[in-house]
Amino acid sequence: MNHTETYSIKGMHCASCATIIEKTFKKTEGVFDASANYGTESVKIAFDPSKIKPHQLSKKIEPYGYSLNIQTAQSMHMSENEHAAHLGLNQSKVEKLAELKTLKNKLISVTPLVILTFLSMGWDILSQVKLVPEMSMTTGIIFKYSLPIMAIYVLMILGKPYFLGVYRFLRFRVANMDTLIGIGTSVAFVYSLIILIFSGYLRKYVDVENFYFDVTIVVIAFIALGKYLEVRSKIKTGDAIEKLLNLQAKTALVLREDKEIETPIDQVMHNDLIIIKPAGIIPVDGVITEGSSFVDESMISGEPMPVKKKTGDTVVAGTINTSGSFIFKATGIGSETMLARIIKMVEDAQGTKAPIQAIADKISAIFVPIVLVLSVLTFLAWLLIGTQYLGFSQALSSGLVSFVGILVIACPCALGLATPTAIIVGVGKGARSGVLIKDAAALETLHKVNVLVMDKTGTITKGKPELVDIQVYSKMPEADMVNILASLEKNSEHPIAHAITSYATERDYTFFPVENFEAIKGKGIKGTIKNEEYFAGNIRLVQDLGIKFDTKVFEKATLEGKTPILISSNKEVLGIVMVADEIKPEAKDAIKNLHKLGIKIIMLTGDDKNTARHIASMVGIDEVVAETLPQDKLRVIKELQEGRFKNWKLEIRNPSQRLVVAMTGDGVNDAPALAQANVGIAMATGTDVAIESAGITLLHGDISKLVQAVRLSKITMLGIKQNLFWAFFYNIVGIPLAAGLFYPIFGWLLNPIFAGLAMAFSSVSVVMNSLRIKLKKIS
Ligand code: ADP
Ligand code: MG
Repeated sequence: MNHTETYSIKGMHCASCATIIEKTFKKTEGVFDASANYGTESVKIAFDPSKIKPHQLSKKIEPYGYSLNIQTAQSMHMSENEHAAHLGLNQSKVEKLAELKTLKNKLISVTPLVILTFLSMGWDILSQVKLVPEMSMTTGIIFKYSLPIMAIYVLMILGKPYFLGVYRFLRFRVANMDTLIGIGTSVAFVYSLIILIFSGYLRKYVDVENFYFDVTIVVIAFIALGKYLEVRSKIKTGDAIEKLLNLQAKTALVLREDKEIETPIDQVMHNDLIIIKPAGIIPVDGVITEGSSFVDESMISGEPMPVKKKTGDTVVAGTINTSGSFIFKATGIGSETMLARIIKMVEDAQGTKAPIQAIADKISAIFVPIVLVLSVLTFLAWLLIGTQYLGFSQALSSGLVSFVGILVIACPCALGLATPTAIIVGVGKGARSGVLIKDAAALETLHKVNVLVMDKTGTITKGKPELVDIQVYSKMPEADMVNILASLEKNSEHPIAHAITSYATERDYTFFPVENFEAIKGKGIKGTIKNEEYFAGNIRLVQDLGIKFDTKVFEKATLEGKTPILISSNKEVLGIVMVADEIKPEAKDAIKNLHKLGIKIIMLTGDDKNTARHIASMVGIDEVVAETLPQDKLRVIKELQEGRFKNWKLEIRNPSQRLVVAMTGDGVNDAPALAQANVGIAMATGTDVAIESAGITLLHGDISKLVQAVRLSKITMLGIKQNLFWAFFYNIVGIPLAAGLFYPIFGWLLNPIFAGLAMAFSSVSVVMNSLRIKLKKIS
């Protein structure tokens, strides 16, 4: 049995923690796979519940200072209604806030000590350059003996995680960032303490006037401050989910036995009639049964204009009524509502790893041991080489400074934050504007897309065609022909069918019973009425029947963008109806903007060539592939990806350039093509959210959201790349500086205090940079 569950983790401090956790679980009996994420502080484990239980899993990582939050997982599990998820989520946030508050108080309590430490350091430096008089004997002595006491206090208040890091390293041989900081600061402290106590004996060999208590104090304080700022901003990266949760109403006004009863949301049942008053929040999903109004859906779809809703229209939880009032029947409650599914999707997506993160993961996995070795080697090098030029005592103290400096500056923390924080913000931002992202990989791939394949019906056109013309070609009267056609179409779900049946319904036709109904993919439909077989579809369907028909008769109409539907028996064509589908008003602009983003656009449709070309030319599409069968759509995508696409008229600068292909469609009959594309983008209409075959779903079938999705992908990836650059930059510049590589030339040696500052700053700057993604405009 294979069960997959995501647990939040307590005690995760950095990227290297994720590596430790992953490795531990992967080695565990009964676990198939594990993926830990520092951004969301969670782990996704695939395991066999008959072999190992969640609390046993937790036990596996407890020695290293982590534990699974099984509580949260259960309440997430319970989220049959989103209320439980609501509680589950808030719980972990409350914990986080409490943790933050304690850390803040600790920081405040050490602040005076840090200021005093700086004062003594500053005085020291200024007096050396003769800007201030030397410290008096007494002041000097006061500082000399109070600094170690202050250091002990700071270590007691803030040092615990770092000591534990050292302890676990000694005991279990696992090292994380805490270990590095712990070793660095405790070596500085212990060395200083030894020379303070044994100065009499050691004076002959080492420099007993240089203590590093100040290093211990300031480094620990800076790292803790950095951690505090990091956690604080990290909470903000995930607030999109919280904003979505806040859209959820707590109660609903349910109509029961002619009484309006205010009912808690988790007691609302299917088919309950719910009253919505002006400015009321829609509490669950449903269909309007009485009244009409305009509803503001911007919070869910990003659609700024309120949408007209009348009897029979669907409304979704979390949207807000404007001034009318109506009654609707609950059809989706609890976890079934669109809002609940969006939240779930965002949560899941935020926990996935972008492919680009693999590099950062690999590096941080080997970073910690490498840094440990490097710091020891540097120390030895100082002793061996430095002693020859500077003498032993100077080499020893410089070596120590290098040792501590490397350990502190080389922490891979920022590296671990670079990708996940940006993904969390990007996915959340998308959800706020109706761009639902299934996983980080889809968001990453989208920025590389250079060809976008679009379905016509429902993507470029509204997908709500109307019957505009009828032509009869046989002796059968028009009314009979339309009646037969409409009866057939009654069995189909194609948008064309809808156009025809609603035409017939409006004219009060009664439908004939149809036997042996069949949809012929990409061509049309057939069925038997009164023992006579009839067909409705495009010219190919008629040709398949062996009937000759001159397409000239509908050429003019197709050149105007209308779609001809031929009605025939198995002997002759009875007539043609023309349906026309309006082009979405935003299509032209969207395509122009996609072109600006460097994307070529191909339209793929099962519709008539002329019709397709007309519509393509109206909106500025680069190439059309018409009269395709569903399997052709898949083939076209493959050919594009493999560079074998034959009808390729588009100008590509470099023919060997690999094409990254995105496909947009409705996700129903386009599913195979969506899955084949590098990124599948589904146009959701109504209340579908997570369309299986698509990596990205655009709400409201709004094609301008395509542009937003691409822009979002670009800014998120830019953010990640900037983050990775900064994270590496600190380490690449910091390590040689701390090692003393520039000492022989410039006399530079990084003070560990600056290492601590840089280290804290790098994590904070990475998270802040990710938060900036929120502010960027995508629409
Ligand atoms: P697309 O989504 O690109 O329009 P489809 O494969 O859904 O492609 O349909 C291709 C063509 O098949 C339509 O343009 C139409 O000519 C014909 N067709 C499909 N379903 C029907 C139907 N129910 N009634 C009449 N024609 C149909
Ligand atoms: Mg279609």
